[in-house]
Amino acid sequence: MPDPVFRRLALIGIGLIGSSVARIAHQRGDLAAEVVVTARTQKTLDRVRELGFADRIEADPGRAVAGADCVMLCAPVGAFADLAAAIAPHLAPGAVLTDVGSTKQSVIRDVGPLVPAGVHFVPAHPVAGTEYSGPDSGFTTLFEGRWALLTPPPGTDPDAVERVAELWRRCGSMVQIMEPAHHDRVLAIVSHLPHLIAFTICGTADDLADETRQEVLRFAASGFRDFTRIAASDPVMWRDVFLNNREALLEMLARFMEDAQAMSRAVRWGDAAYIEDKVERGRKIRRSLIELKQA
Ligand code: NAP
Repeated sequence: MPDPVFRRLALIGIGLIGSSVARIAHQRGDLAAEVVVTARTQKTLDRVRELGFADRIEADPGRAVAGADCVMLCAPVGAFADLAAAIAPHLAPGAVLTDVGSTKQSVIRDVGPLVPAGVHFVPAHPVAGTEYSGPDSGFTTLFEGRWALLTPPPGTDPDAVERVAELWRRCGSMVQIMEPAHHDRVLAIVSHLPHLIAFTICGTADDLADETRQEVLRFAASGFRDFTRIAASDPVMWRDVFLNNREALLEMLARFMEDAQAMSRAVRWGDAAYIEDKVERGRKIRRSLIELKQA
């Protein structure tokens, strides 16, 4: 077995993503020699103890990060500023501070200024997930064949970047370095907008009269249920993603609404060729995702 990438990995937040990393670390033994876990509530910490994938559990984030050579923020991005302020005085010189947040410019804005000199800040985002949350929802294969996008600020220590990249490779991910603004635009279209549409369409269906709602649920297999799957995601996490990728999300939403208007016009005027062309394009995109093994 190769040497562990880190001596002590502290995970701040232990839901779907954090507990998947902890499970992998526990199973493989070559991510970190020791895994320390903290979360917000005692209930979660008690559950982590029962699940048995942490070497040490700390209620206080400052105590959790003390002496760690890697600290990974795995809480909703809206909590990052307060968390960074709480842990900053306890970070060990030379430690790597990374995260898994779904937005990157906001994380650099909120955390960057609080990072003490001598601590290496390597923002990251594993592009993998499910609609489940909490410490029970993680699993060891979550990141296999998925991208981990790293957005280190210019001048970040290359060795720190490489160690974070190696951690994600050992989790089964493919790693790419990206500009944070580019990351946020790409994720706005491939993840944030689809979630916004799913939450909205479920709300629209729910607003219909009782009679219609029963019909919706009875016949949900016709497409609606695919939206309900992603609409089942954690409300706090998604609230924070929308509010912290505001510009890119609004831009993609505006573009989407223009295209939806064009489709609406085609339906109204019976423009069969336009409709057929758009459906064909959708099929092609699906086929290429399958070829890329990202479906
Ligand atoms: P999750 O399952 O809802 O778990 C969140 C964890 O953060 C919980 O352990 C929670 O503790 C903890 N937490 C919340 N507020 C905290 C605070 N103020 N201080 C300390 N801990 C706090 O979330 P997740 O799905 O793993 O998402 C975690 C991060 O990964 C988010 O930033 C998200 O954007 C990103 N991400 C998510 C996905 C996805 O599909 N879910 C994919 C990629 C990246 P308690 O249980 O005690 O409240």
